[in-house]
Amino acid sequence: MNTLPEGLVDALARDRADNLAGFRHRFVVPDHELIYLDGNSLGRLPKTTNAKLHELVDREWGDRLIRSWNEGWFDAPQRVGDKIAELLGAASGEMLVADSTSVNLFKLGLGAMRHQAGRHKIITDDLNFPSDLYIMQGVIKSLDRPCHLEVVHSDDGIHGPLDKLLNAIDEDTALVTLTHTVFKSSYTYDMELITRRAHEKGAMVLWDLSHSVGAVPIHLNACDVDLAVGCTYKYLNGGPGAPAFLYVRKDLQDRLENPISGWMGQKNLFQFTLDYEPEQGIRHFLTGTPSILSLTAIEPGLSLLLEAGMDNIRQKSLNQSAYLIDLWESELEPLGFRLNSPRDPAVRGPHISLGHDEGLRIDRALIEKKNVLPDFRRPDNIRLGIPPLYTSYEDIWRAVQAMKDVVVNRIYEEFSTEAPVVT
Ligand SMILES: *Cc1c(COP(=O)(O)O)cnc(C)c1O
Repeated sequence: MNTLPEGLVDALARDRADNLAGFRHRFVVPDHELIYLDGNSLGRLPKTTNAKLHELVDREWGDRLIRSWNEGWFDAPQRVGDKIAELLGAASGEMLVADSTSVNLFKLGLGAMRHQAGRHKIITDDLNFPSDLYIMQGVIKSLDRPCHLEVVHSDDGIHGPLDKLLNAIDEDTALVTLTHTVFKSSYTYDMELITRRAHEKGAMVLWDLSHSVGAVPIHLNACDVDLAVGCTYKYLNGGPGAPAFLYVRKDLQDRLENPISGWMGQKNLFQFTLDYEPEQGIRHFLTGTPSILSLTAIEPGLSLLLEAGMDNIRQKSLNQSAYLIDLWESELEPLGFRLNSPRDPAVRGPHISLGHDEGLRIDRALIEKKNVLPDFRRPDNIRLGIPPLYTSYEDIWRAVQAMKDVVVNRIYEEFSTEAPVVT
C-alpha cells in the first residue's frame, strides 16, 4: 500500500476543512498537474466567462448590432464599476471601468495636480510599480508650474517606509500616491493612516489597488480616500489586458477635471457640440469608446468574489500565507531561501516573495521541469501568488516540495541566467 507523505496528508486535510474550496471548480482548470501561482499577474478564467462572451458576440454583437449600445453597452463602464465599488467599500456612482491602470493614473494624477494649484510636491516610494513613477514624471511635465516627485526610500526593500512617508507629507504636498500592496514584497500600507495624514496637511491621495483588489478588504469611503485606480486582470480574473477601474470620491467628481477630455465624458454627447463641456458625476472621467468585449469579461469574476465575500477571502489568504511561511521556515530557509515579504500579516498582502541567490534559474526550472508557475521579479524574488479562490493547500505543499527538489538536486543549473522577455 502506498502511504502518502505526512505533509501531503496534512495539506489535504486543510483543503477538506476549507469552506472556500468549492470555488476552485468555478474556474477553468484544464491541467490538474499544473500548479499555478501567478494569479496575481493573470487571474484564472471563470467558467461562466465563456458563456457570457459567446452570448455577447453571437447575440449582442452578431444579432443586435448597434442597438446593443442602448441595451447595456453604454452603461457598462458604470455598471461594472458599481460592482467593483461594492468590493472596495465605495458607493454606487463612484467607480468607472475604462482604459488601463496607467492611463487612469495619469488622468487622476494630473486632474489632482491641477486642482491643487499652489502646491508643488508629489510623494511616492521606491517600492512602487515603476510605471506609476513614469506616469507621475509625465504628469509633472504636463503641468504649467514647476513640480517635483519625492521618492521616499525603503530601508530594507521589503517594508514600506511608513514613518519617513508620514514625515515627508507637508504643506507643499499636493498628492501622495502609493501602491497599496507593493508588487514585489507584498507589504501593505495602512490606507486610513496615510490618507488621514495627507488630509491633515491639505494633500490628496491616489491609491493604486492593483495588487490588493479582490484579495484584501478595502474601505475607500470609510478611509475617506480621494482617488484610486486598479487592475482587473489580476485577482479580479477579468482577462488579459482587461480595462482598469478608477474611483473618484463623490464630492470631488465635479471639482476635478479629466485632462484627457473626450466625447464619452461630454455632456449630451450626441449633440456633437464643438466645445467640451463635462458630464456631471463620474462619467466625465471616461474618454473614448469603452472596449465592450473585455469590459464584459470582467463581470463573472466579480460575481464570484462578491459571492465568496472579501472577509472570507482575506481569512483564507492569511491562513494560506501562514501555512506557506511555516513550510518556508522548516523546509526552504535551510536551502538558502529568504522571506522577502513582511513576516507580520497585518502589513502583508496576498502574495509571498521568496528570495534566493539563484532565484531566476530556480524560477525557470520550476516552470520548465516542475510544472509550477510562479513569476520572477528582480533582483532575486520568486513571487508566489496564492489567490484564495482557486489555490489549494495541496498546491502550496507541492510547490514547496518542487522548490526543494530544484535546489537539492541542482536542477536549476541546467538553466541560463538570462531572463526571457516576460518573467
Ligand atoms: C499590474 C499593475 C499595473 C498595470 O498597469 P497597466 O496599465 O495595466 O499595464 C499598474 N500598477 C500596478 C501597481 C500594478 O501592479
